[in-house]
Amino acid sequence: MKIPFVDLRTQYISIKEEIDQAISKVIQKSAFIGGGFLQSFEQRFATYIGVKYCIGVGNGTDALFIALKVLDIDKGDEVITVANTFIATSEAITATGAKVVFVDINPETYNIDVTKIEEKITQKTKAVIPVHLYGQPAEMDSIMEVARKYNLYVIEDAAQAHLAKYKGKTVGAIGNIGCFSFYPGKNLGAYGDAGAIVTNNNELATKARMYANNGRLEKYNHEFEGVNSRLDGLQAAILDIKLKYLDEWNNRRRTIANIYYEGLKNIVTTPTVLPYVKHVYHLYVIRVKNRDKIREFLAEKGISTGIHYPIPLPFLKAYKYLGHKPEDFPIAYSLKNEILSLPIHGNMTDDQVEYVITQLKNGINAVG
Ligand SMILES: *Cc1c(COP(=O)(O)O)cnc(C)c1O
Repeated sequence: MKIPFVDLRTQYISIKEEIDQAISKVIQKSAFIGGGFLQSFEQRFATYIGVKYCIGVGNGTDALFIALKVLDIDKGDEVITVANTFIATSEAITATGAKVVFVDINPETYNIDVTKIEEKITQKTKAVIPVHLYGQPAEMDSIMEVARKYNLYVIEDAAQAHLAKYKGKTVGAIGNIGCFSFYPGKNLGAYGDAGAIVTNNNELATKARMYANNGRLEKYNHEFEGVNSRLDGLQAAILDIKLKYLDEWNNRRRTIANIYYEGLKNIVTTPTVLPYVKHVYHLYVIRVKNRDKIREFLAEKGISTGIHYPIPLPFLKAYKYLGHKPEDFPIAYSLKNEILSLPIHGNMTDDQVEYVITQLKNGINAVG
């Protein structure tokens, strides 16, 4: 059996008619930039998240960058984020001129360790970017409490957590601004690069919309310099169709996670899920000894796996200038050789999941 890590083709086939029709409509109407398809998706996505405003942008990295810009984060400022995430989170911070300040992860959830945020706050700290990594919400109550105490902005990186919930609240709607990526492999994925910013703040929403559109609301009336980072009509129309299926696909991911849990709980370290969150399993990350050998074994059996992420950000060459040592982020450092992401997506069959479980057991028996 061949088990791909993601399977966008099977998903497309399942909704082919609707998608093809939507794409055709956009082209017929030449609604490539702005227009009704974009508006429709933005409104629907805002409703799903439970916020007043959604601004489609070019990708998730830009969403984070624009969020920081509209909050006036600048050179001389510091922004706190987590050591284990995709580099886009910290790249966006650096792109504003601000300094990235990393915090270690919680060994159970792999999200930011909220007990270690306060010690990183200085006079220069302006914002915190929690990441809802793998689809599990970060500990937002503690984060919002620290943010209130020190007057910091909170930008949620929800790129891996579309429709995940923290104590009944949809992520992205809890902090000042929420940022989403619709990279094809995400839980809600476009057919190219795409992203969105969500907020309840009218002023921030307007500023973000302008910033993403060369600093204007009207043609040629540029009020400041921004960037060109728009969600295009084709992507918006595709996302609008796919959004209707997102809950169903997320629920399938959750069912698969349960099957993995039942099959693997006595053999590997399965994910710890906080009792008051809805995890949407962008990734199903286990911990296992001899990870690299197990991974090779699975590859030989046709099973694609991933590592998210092989090198925690502070230890990347890109952040060598920060001079961090393993003992600065002991949890992230110690887990990097054990984490393994198993295939999980909305179109995976029970047979495929069972095959992964069986082969993982075989692999552990074979290599120890
Ligand atoms: C995917 C991702 C991003 C960036 O999104 P792009 O659309 O690829 O720019 C940011 N943060 C996290 C946690 C991500 O997983």
